[in-house]
Amino acid sequence: MLFGEIDPPQRLLMGPGPVNAHPRVLRAMSADLLGQFDPEMTGYMEQVMALYRPVFGTDNRWTFLIDGTARAAIEASLVSLVEPGDTVLVIDFGRFGLLLKEILQRIGAPIVSVEAPWGQVMPMEAIAAAIERHGPRVVASVHGDTSTTMAQPLAGLGDLCRRAGAYSYVDATATLGGMAIDTDAWGVDIVTGGLQKCLGGPSGSAPITVSDRAAERIFARRHVEQGIRRADIADGRGPRIASNYFDLAMVMDYWSEKRLNHHTEATTMLYGARECARVALGEGLPARFERHARAGASVTAAARAMGLRVFGDDAHRMTNVTAIHIPEGVDGEAVRRRMREDFEIEIGTAFGPLAGKVWRIGAMGYNAMKHKVALTIGALEAVLRAEGYATPPGAGVDAALAAWNG
Ligand SMILES: *Cc1c(COP(=O)(O)O)cnc(C)c1O
Repeated sequence: MLFGEIDPPQRLLMGPGPVNAHPRVLRAMSADLLGQFDPEMTGYMEQVMALYRPVFGTDNRWTFLIDGTARAAIEASLVSLVEPGDTVLVIDFGRFGLLLKEILQRIGAPIVSVEAPWGQVMPMEAIAAAIERHGPRVVASVHGDTSTTMAQPLAGLGDLCRRAGAYSYVDATATLGGMAIDTDAWGVDIVTGGLQKCLGGPSGSAPITVSDRAAERIFARRHVEQGIRRADIADGRGPRIASNYFDLAMVMDYWSEKRLNHHTEATTMLYGARECARVALGEGLPARFERHARAGASVTAAARAMGLRVFGDDAHRMTNVTAIHIPEGVDGEAVRRRMREDFEIEIGTAFGPLAGKVWRIGAMGYNAMKHKVALTIGALEAVLRAEGYATPPGAGVDAALAAWNG
């Protein structure tokens, strides 16, 4: 049986991610392959490290890529940083805080947490009090949690952690390249991302940055410098990081001048990640953050003009994804289906306590554009009317454009 060539519909992806990739990124990914030790290839790796430092707001030497989706970098960070017996404090304000806990549970780490209700964030004083009370060795947080659309303020977190002798980890998957990520100013140790949100690439490569002090801790867990030898295993001097693929010490040995072999670098994904960063830095990060802020303000204003309620605390909203309450009597899934079938637009559903209660509209990366927001809102207005929800024709689009231009 011979199936047809891949020819997907030109769907506009306005959910919480993935989003449509920038055409330059897709073009970069069609370039010819190289071996992972080819000097051209290792040259591209050095460029990737240099390109992602400003994207992360850091001077960290160890700024590189994990091959895998964003979750791969989350898991690599936690499995490599957290030593047996380390208590980990998780700042939990949504679905992805829960993911941090789930991964830590697999590692066997004692977990303590501070928990904000969905739609809110944790005040830094409450985090400080929890650090004081529990004396964690590692503190882990999400920056922007797409499940609730909230962005946790992180200024001051690094200081609190260092004074308490703790390391810090931040999942910035959903905000990297769309909101300011100030790794060095926040003073946090490891920050990870993904391409398929504000960086406007496909999923499958996860940028990461690691402070020198965290790298030192991770390298100290390395069992042998030159790869695995029979004698080491026989002596019981075996590996101390409970994953081979996600052993950051081994991955960093490949990204260092040692170029020690680990897995085969996903070179095509590296081309894509490199182009994502080039596009972002070419636009300029401040301009890019401003564009995402306009998109978020535009969706929020349009929803309110249509008489819809926006979920969550206005003061801590992510700029790139907005949750809108499904109005009483409207079938949320029927709306999503019509959006897809009549307009080729995908909007997002929700998880956990918000399942069936909100839609999530994302405008990120290549899709955080005025016309794409206006088209999505115009389509939503038409679909809502078709589903029996009375909204004044044109009110949403007018508000979206006014907020964008305002
Ligand atoms: C989307 C998202 C992820 C996604 O991880 P993948 O492995 O790329 O699916 C992780 N964390 C946050 C906060 C996200 O919003």
